[in-house]
Amino acid sequence: MSCLVLLDKTLRLHDNPLLCQAGIADSSLPLVAVVCLDEKAFFGHQYGVARASLLRLQQQLQLIAKSKQALAKLNIGLVTLFGEPITELTALAQALNVTQILTAAPVGYHEQQLVMQLAQRFEVITDDVNSLLGSPSLAPQLPDLPDSFSKFRKQREPLLQVDVAVPEFTPQPQQRWLTPANTAEFCENFSQLAAFSQPGSLPGSGERQALHRLDDFIWQKQAIRHYKISRNGLLGEYYASKFSAALASGCLSVRFCWQQIVQFEQQQLANDSTYWLKFELLWREFFRWQFRKYGKAWFSNSAIKGPLDFSKPHLNASQQKNFNHWCAGQTGVPFIDANMRLLNTTGLMSNRGRQNVASFLIHDLGIDWRLGAAYFEQRLLDYDVASNWGNWAYIAGSGNSGERQFNVIKQALNYDRSGDFVRTMLPELSAQGSLIHQPGPGVNVPEHWQHWLSKLTDSKT
Ligand SMILES: Cc1cc2nc3c(=O)[nH]c(=O)nc-3n(C[C@H](O)[C@H](O)[C@H](O)COP(=O)(O)OP(=O)(O)OC[C@H]3O[C@@H](n4cnc5c(N)ncnc54)[C@H](O)[C@@H]3O)c2cc1C
Repeated sequence: MSCLVLLDKTLRLHDNPLLCQAGIADSSLPLVAVVCLDEKAFFGHQYGVARASLLRLQQQLQLIAKSKQALAKLNIGLVTLFGEPITELTALAQALNVTQILTAAPVGYHEQQLVMQLAQRFEVITDDVNSLLGSPSLAPQLPDLPDSFSKFRKQREPLLQVDVAVPEFTPQPQQRWLTPANTAEFCENFSQLAAFSQPGSLPGSGERQALHRLDDFIWQKQAIRHYKISRNGLLGEYYASKFSAALASGCLSVRFCWQQIVQFEQQQLANDSTYWLKFELLWREFFRWQFRKYGKAWFSNSAIKGPLDFSKPHLNASQQKNFNHWCAGQTGVPFIDANMRLLNTTGLMSNRGRQNVASFLIHDLGIDWRLGAAYFEQRLLDYDVASNWGNWAYIAGSGNSGERQFNVIKQALNYDRSGDFVRTMLPELSAQGSLIHQPGPGVNVPEHWQHWLSKLTDSKT
């Protein structure tokens, strides 16, 4: 008999109760650390859109490789599986006579399904290690979970006592882990992915890099001091935390992150900005619980708002053309194209950019929000099922809000008045000042932009 410690979304040594607690109660159980790369999630398609870009696959492979090295230094082998998770995990479990599986509590519908299926065959123990409200005493009861973020925050914030992060993992004498030599034979399928590997560190692809960023943003550069003012920026290293990719992949613990902010508040400064970073982490938390509450409904056309309709989004010929242009950053609307090209080249985009390109696709081009969410899933290095689909449905008006339509020209004037962001991403444009935001010829300019278009000028201010 043995115990599988499934480390998907928990590939870290800091604050990792899965690693720390495995086998402590029953030291007779040999422990097997394992991660499974879901073939469909990286090589499949949804609505005709590829599920993951090469960059996102490379990021995941880097994360796994770095974790494998870190565990090997502790003489622990990491079994790396590739394929259909239930099939791969069951085969491994049978080969190793596994009776118990330890894993992070699932969030998205497919993760929930996997855990349910595993639970039919094995004893499955879940621990909500990637949530702020993860401990049983804090966890919301799903039927009572408010669907409005404000209500959720007001209800939860006063009670919020985030569990103390557990100390960095070191193997305990009573733990009997399979070593790198014992595990190599189970990684055969995964080794075929070596062809996709790429040198150079990508965001979210390593624990050391994530902890370094956390320390740099909060303690070294103290950019947290002005976060509330700078967070709507579009360019640069320190306008926002850039913790998202590491939080999404799980190589950074959200509880550790929260505690670092609290420590900064206690030791250095507590202001609106330090509060606001916690406020944004609560948004992440909100969507996690919303996904647990509504499950598959999030992928329906009207998400949590209407009758369930999982049929494929339909596009007529002109919408298909517009969607293709949107994806490629070739709509002719500079603020949209600049953001989409940033996404396509780096796998990231600011929150301000995301809100605008999503609103433009849904409300100005009239395209089903799920296609936008699917394209973001493919590209984003911080892709997280709840944050992505939850935010898209939010802007569409199918989630936890009424419709959110942004006036792209007004937004461009507010957040890129000088045009420097657009100029950086679209060097082919030569207009001066905010005139750079003028849509190109052939763009179908909506009526509600006219007023703001008249305010574009060639001056720098
Ligand atoms: C259409 C759309 C799609 C999105 N898709 C994703 C996604 O797949 N993954 C993802 O992590 N975020 C997503 N977001 C939320 C947000 O844009 C990113 O979390 C943020 O831009 C990441 O940059 P940062 O780490 O510098 O954020 P910061 O501004 O520094 O915020 C700190 C942290 O708070 C959390 N956070 C901030 N804003 C939100 C939000 N609106 N919803 C949920 N969590 C939030 C993130 O974990 C983030 O790292 C999406 C937003 C929109 C509008």
